[in-house]
Amino acid sequence: MKKYHGSCHCQAVTFEVDGDFTEGMTCNCSHCKRKGVVLAFVPKSQFRLLSGADNLTTYKFNKKVIDHKFCKTCGVQPFGQAGDTVAINLNCIEDSDLDTESLIIKKVSGKDF
Ligand SMILES: [Zn+2]
Repeated sequence: MKKYHGSCHCQAVTFEVDGDFTEGMTCNCSHCKRKGVVLAFVPKSQFRLLSGADNLTTYKFNKKVIDHKFCKTCGVQPFGQAGDTVAINLNCIEDSDLDTESLIIKKVSGKDF
């Protein structure tokens, strides 16, 4: 597994995540579509928040099982959390770490969930 670095736009929130990200998921639900997130899922043990815990706000909707975490300052959502799973927004991984050109994008119809 590789170690990736990520952040929100203003760099208040920074994190490290272990994984092998060759594919990401986009979803057409009312939330993902608006934010334009590209997601990959990892167990909580592979995710480390390095800074910005105080700068994160949580948004919940629908069944309220997912904590959508976004930065109070710049509004970017670097990740979300549901139980022991963290959904990483691959758009928040540093370009030098992630080859976004070769990333395989899977389109999921979250509308149906
Ligand atoms: Zn920020």
